[in-house]
Amino acid sequence: MTASPRPARIIPLRPVATTYGTTPRTAPDPAAAASGSANDPQCAVPPTPPPLSLYVHYPWCVRKCPYCDFNSHEHRTMVEVATDSESTTALETRYVDALITDIESALPDVWGRRVHSVFIGGGTPSLMSATAVDRLLTAVRTLLPLDPLAEITLEANPGTVESGRFRDYRAAGVNRLSIGVQSFDDRQLRRIGRIHGGDEARRAIDIALEHFERVNVDLMYALPEQRLEQALADLDTAIAAGVHHVSAYHLTLEPNTPFFHTPPPLPDPDHAADMQDAIEARLADAGFEHYETSAFARPGQQSRHNLNYWQFGDYLGIGAGAHGKLSRHDGIVREMRHKHPNRYLEGASRREFVQERKTVARADLPFEFMMNVLRLTGGVPLALFHARTGLTVDHLAAALREARDKRLIVIETDGSPGGDAVRPTELGRRFLNDLLALFLPTDSSPG
Ligand code: SF4
Repeated sequence: MTASPRPARIIPLRPVATTYGTTPRTAPDPAAAASGSANDPQCAVPPTPPPLSLYVHYPWCVRKCPYCDFNSHEHRTMVEVATDSESTTALETRYVDALITDIESALPDVWGRRVHSVFIGGGTPSLMSATAVDRLLTAVRTLLPLDPLAEITLEANPGTVESGRFRDYRAAGVNRLSIGVQSFDDRQLRRIGRIHGGDEARRAIDIALEHFERVNVDLMYALPEQRLEQALADLDTAIAAGVHHVSAYHLTLEPNTPFFHTPPPLPDPDHAADMQDAIEARLADAGFEHYETSAFARPGQQSRHNLNYWQFGDYLGIGAGAHGKLSRHDGIVREMRHKHPNRYLEGASRREFVQERKTVARADLPFEFMMNVLRLTGGVPLALFHARTGLTVDHLAAALREARDKRLIVIETDGSPGGDAVRPTELGRRFLNDLLALFLPTDSSPG
């Protein structure tokens, strides 16, 4: 349950409202208009298309975890979605057929663009047969110019692991596995409603390391009544197993989840912050680079797919409820596929997959860009703002000054023209929501 174009998890310090779709409209930027941006002066277009990734959503899980607000549905509903005479295997085939048709329908929006990474997320994609994954990836290679060295990740739940299936996923082209372990502690796993125990999690990692070049483990901390040493014990188990990447998430209470309505006894915020500090220190000692808010990698083992999100790259999102972001000739577009699997499958017969599509207003781009890139511990060159949005850095200037004055960011220069880079300070990372709020559009924002 790591990475996908789902809303990023941000340490919940102060809620930041997204103004997507509700932005005050301001005057168009004549300079951008003159440079041949979109016809609509409210929109912006990058000078060249950013790197493109593909996200594929598999929407079913064995059982719904009580903290989870992702678009995932219990496996038994898959049986209900199947027609009277249809087996779940036939339904899997129908879903893969729909995914392939979805790619075909999206081709005009990504024509000729090379795909640098693929992420099959969910839900629990490791419920898919290797045959289905093979058919999907064969279609991806046939329909899209897939980079021969593309990173291809699949998310796996330790409760669904079979050695033979992992071997066959590898043969189908998957070269990175992301395992949703969350904890190795049986008692904790039961409390947070996971379908697996600690032994299964350890076994899943061992099998994954046999078959895949790169293995990520998702862990959660600040679990019900969790003590610091228990959180560190989970981390030590993952490090000792030899995984290449760790994603460590703070358990948060998301609206519309059972945990939100009946919260378990969670550690207080100070205790949770201590855990976060200790986790960061332990991973640094073990040689992991803390490169993103929740992501830690051994040298050279970052998730290339997720890096593309955080560098405000483009992604085509297919499958039920998948989100996409695409730079087109008429602006930067965000879209979401039909959310319910039933509706998505129904739409497939009419080649109608998209539930929502919106062009991102230029006034929203500073916030949207910063919301992604400021998650990166090392920051980004400021020139990336123009490369990804087509807007000049002037659109960030006032907020950058304020953020620097508040010691939330540093701006470094290498002396070359356009060589400035921005990165969050430790304070900025800790108060990320407050930092991001500075980039929300105001009536005085440049248009
Ligand atoms: S397995 Fe992952 S996606 Fe499925 S319900 Fe649990 S947390 Fe959500």
